[in-house]
Amino acid sequence: MTGGMSGLDQMDDLYEVIILDHYRSPRNTSAVENPDIDLEVNNPFCGDEVRIQMKIDRNIVSHVGITGRGCAISQASASLLAELVEGKSSDQVHGAVDSVRRLLKGENITDQEADTLGDIEALQGVRKFPVRIKCALLSWVGLDDALKDHIAGVKS
Ligand code: ZN
Repeated sequence: MTGGMSGLDQMDDLYEVIILDHYRSPRNTSAVENPDIDLEVNNPFCGDEVRIQMKIDRNIVSHVGITGRGCAISQASASLLAELVEGKSSDQVHGAVDSVRRLLKGENITDQEADTLGDIEALQGVRKFPVRIKCALLSWVGLDDALKDHIAGVKS
């Protein structure tokens, strides 16, 4: 049996290439100085851990740094997230998180959503492995909640 550790052995080749590329060379991993958001999320079922740091400048994610350890899917997903959110508004990030949630649930997403997600569509390969959906969503859900709390805190 090969690839058992990653859980990718039955994944579509193209998706697997993207996931493994992000797992091996994660994007935006540098620590962020004086982050506005600094959180750690974990998925005890798999042992995944992700730390997310962000600088928020008037509702825009001006800087992001994401590091972690765990399975290939959790770490690749975090890297794909790190690549997407920089320069995006909190509303755009929220929209993308919603698209990813629906993608992983097997629901249809629009062409426009697919355009926005780009390589992130590779995460849909995880749908075949229900236990891995938690791994794929870990950083997305954590970041979305933290960003909402932050924006609410700034407004109040
Ligand atoms: Zn995992």
